[in-house]
Formats: sequence, structure tokens, C-alpha cells
Amino acid sequence: MTIQTSNKQGNLVNGEWIKSEETFLVENKYTHEPFAHVAKANKQLIDKAVTSAYDTFQNVKLTATDRHHILIRSAELFKERKDEIAMIICREAGKTINDAKAEVDRGIQTFIASAEEAKQISGQGLPIHGQPGNDEKMAFSIRVPVGVICAITPFNFPFNLTAHKVAPAIAAGNTIVLKPAERTPVTAIKIAEIMLKAGLPSGYINVVNGFGKETGPMLLKDKRIAMFTFTGSPNVGREIKNNSGIRKVTLELGSNSPNIIHHDTLDLKRAVQLVISRGYSNSGQACISVQRIYVHRSIYHEVIEEATKLAESFTVGNPELETTNIGPMISIDEAERAENWVKEALEEGAHIATGGQREGALFYPTILTNVTENMKVMCEEVFAPVISIVPYDEIDEVFKRVNDSRFGLQAGLFTSNFHIAMKAAQKLEFGGVNINDVSTFRADILPYGGIKDSGIGKEGPRSAIEEMTNEKVITMHL
Ligand code: NAD
Repeated sequence: MTIQTSNKQGNLVNGEWIKSEETFLVENKYTHEPFAHVAKANKQLIDKAVTSAYDTFQNVKLTATDRHHILIRSAELFKERKDEIAMIICREAGKTINDAKAEVDRGIQTFIASAEEAKQISGQGLPIHGQPGNDEKMAFSIRVPVGVICAITPFNFPFNLTAHKVAPAIAAGNTIVLKPAERTPVTAIKIAEIMLKAGLPSGYINVVNGFGKETGPMLLKDKRIAMFTFTGSPNVGREIKNNSGIRKVTLELGSNSPNIIHHDTLDLKRAVQLVISRGYSNSGQACISVQRIYVHRSIYHEVIEEATKLAESFTVGNPELETTNIGPMISIDEAERAENWVKEALEEGAHIATGGQREGALFYPTILTNVTENMKVMCEEVFAPVISIVPYDEIDEVFKRVNDSRFGLQAGLFTSNFHIAMKAAQKLEFGGVNINDVSTFRADILPYGGIKDSGIGKEGPRSAIEEMTNEKVITMHL
């Protein structure tokens, strides 16, 4: 499939695609050939983009019905262009074509759910009479858009995670300055292009491209931006929080997601199939990717054997082929980092059941055993197709070990014991707990977000709209 890489692939300001002298290269992550040259935004252009978003927010109002229709129309156009968008994701992110198509499908649902929410935004009636002396008053609240939202996105789900920011922002009546990940900006550019085609007025979405270290501080300094919605690494999240002042911030950050397989699991085969396939999908580069697997000692060896067989059955290679299960990591550097972490774990006493090999950016599905909780592959976010399997004896003991992490995004637990399931729901310190499913499961319509170093605030269309609006309280003396 030929993908058009025209000079439109740049910065969008007030409905106009601005060319720039300076461009940066986006490479095909499998072949390492040039995929696109993207115009880089400088200080003046960023200023213009924020001005466009700010002026549009002040002067161009869309009704809730308009916003609903634009988001639905966008979803229809994405559907028509699904194959093209999936191929862009496949080439610029290295994601397998099957996973890329699935991502587009999910993103379309995120747009549709946001469109539905656009019609449901409301405040609440407030019980002012509950306080003595207020019988002659009434009170209620309304929800109002915050204004200009700056959305900063990561490389790993360039379509759906951008959708999780731009669709609720528009649903709530805000305007956007979007700064996509520099390694995968073309997908985001396509989203903006299609939203304009769907009838979004110029200035509602503006796109600025460049490297986070340069563009980030320029955006953070601009006080006309009312809110930052960020998905990415914990270190950058911390920087954004520290530099955003008293403005609203949502941070969707990383994790080292744990998954527990208890001995009473009704369908052990399904459990192993899920932890393995979801640990390696997108080469392990998902914030809720299965990383730590805790297995009851009575089934430990059986699980390792089955997991190893499965891991070895995966085809690693060209992501454009439908037969490929695991494509390249985002860069050779990242694959080298994963390789070093595995080597380090082995030097510290871990055993390797399978994997560990690297060919350029391709990293083979790896299973480690005999690990300890202070090894990087366990306590840091590995963000690579590397899984560690650990035995446990008591369920309370494993809950403690699972919680003993600076991260808290999502956890998975497989058990047929209702009591244990409910105990996990209560005791596990995470933003989400999936029972009889993996940490990687996410229904896009639900609230989603982490605690501890995994982030602040929730996404999912309804929750994101709550974050992206202010509740204004109205009182009236009768
Ligand atoms: P990253 O933090 O390197 O980059 C994310 C974005 O931040 C990019 O657009 C980048 O240009 C920008 N950025 C970099 N430095 C910046 C700065 N100083 N100021 C402002 N912006 C800056 O992350 P990545 O490598 O693209 O993505 C991987 C990370 O994202 C992992 O840690 C992963 O767990 C996390 N993630 C979290 C979720 C979630 O929902 N919790 C989802 C996907 C990815």
C-alpha cells in the first residue's frame, strides 16, 4: 500500500497546514527506511497554534449536537480509511498489521463513546437547603469546558490514545493543541486531517510537532493553555506536573503490571494463553502489558512449560505480514536496553526459559524465572516482550508482593474463588483490577487510570470529560 507522505504532514494552525524549513525524519520501524519527513514546530509556530486554539475557544461556539455529529462523522471517516490508518501505524510504530487494525477499531469506539457523552454533559442539583439559613435559596451546578487543552501523546498507541484525548476534549467543547509523539506523528496528523473533513471548525484542533524536550517547555510556559493531558513515561509526567503550576493535569503513566494465576483457576489454558499473548502484543510496549506473573507453586512448573511453548510458537518479524505476531520494538536503542536488562537479571541469578535474542529492533519473546523483586525486570517498567514468572504459596503473601511497587495501574487475577476475587478487588492497590482477565484488558468506555507513579486522573470518555470541564456552582436567592 502506498501511503502519501506529502508536505501536509506538518503542523496545523487554524485549519492551515504550515510547512517549515526544518523537518525531522520518521522512520519505518521495521525496515529503518525513511517513512515521512515531518515539519518541526518552532517557538513562533507554537505561539500561533495556541493563539488559534485560544481565539477559537473564545469566539467559535459549537452546540452539543454539533460536537456529537462531528465526532460521529469522524468515526465514520476513520472506518472508511481504516486500512490506510492501520498501515501508517504499522510502519511508523512497528505494530503488527493485525494489532494496528484492532487499534483503529478501538479508537473508532472511543470517538463514538465520546460523541454519546457530548450529549450527556450536565451538572447536578445541589442540596443547599441542608445548611440552616438557606431556605430562601436554590443551587445547582453546570459543567463548563476548561478552554485550551494541550494533549501530549506517546508512541505506542498513536491512534487510540490520541483518540482518548481529542475526542473527549471536543465532546466537552474545548479546543486543542496536540503534540504527538515524535516517533509516530503521522497517525495523529491523519486524525486531525480527518476531523477537519468531518466538519470540525478550524482552530478547534491544532497540531505542533517536534521533540518533547524542546516543544514541551514552550507549551508549558504558555499560560493560555488551561490543562495538560499527558500519556507517557513517569519521568516526563513528573516534569509536566512540576512545570504546569496550578493548571489542571491528567497523567497516564507507566507500570510493571502484575498478574496472579491461582491454582483454582477454572481454565488454566486460557489464563496462560492470555498472559503470554498480552505480554508480548505490541512487543510488550503497553503501559498495562503483563510483566510480572505470580503463579501458585502447585502449578508453577506446568505454567512455565506451557508459557514457554506458546512464546516459542510466536512469529517475530515483518509487522506488515498478517502471520507475524511480534513486530519490532520502537527503536534499536530500546531493544538494546531490554537486552541489557535481561543480561543484568541473568547476572543477578535469574534463569531464562526462552528468548533473550535480539536482531536490530526485534526482540524475541522472553521468559525469566528465578527472579527477585529488586531486579529491574521486576521493579521497573520493562516495556519490552519480557515476562517474569514467580511462584507463591499464600494468596495474602502474593497480594503484598504485588502491591509492593511504586506503580499502580492495572492488575490481573485468575481464580474461581469468589472470596479471593473480592478480596483482590479490595486489597490490590491499583487503578483497575481485572478478575479472570489480564492486566492488559481495557474497555475503552470505562474509567481508566493509575495511582502512585502510574498517574493522576482518569481517562475513558466520561471520566475524561469530567477532567476536561470545570464544575461551576450557581446559587440563587429567591
Ligand atoms: P515519553 O514520555 O518518552 O513521550 C511521551 C510524549 O511526551 C511524547 O510526545 C514526547 O515528545 C513528550 N515529551 C518528552 N519530553 C517532554 C517534556 N520534557 N515535556 C513535555 N513533553 C515531553 O513516552 P513514550 O516513550 O512515547 O511512551 C512510553 C511510555 O508511555 C511508557 O512509560 C508507558 O507506560 C506510557 N504509557 C502510559 C499509558 C497509560 O495510559 N497509562 C498508555 C501508553 C503509554
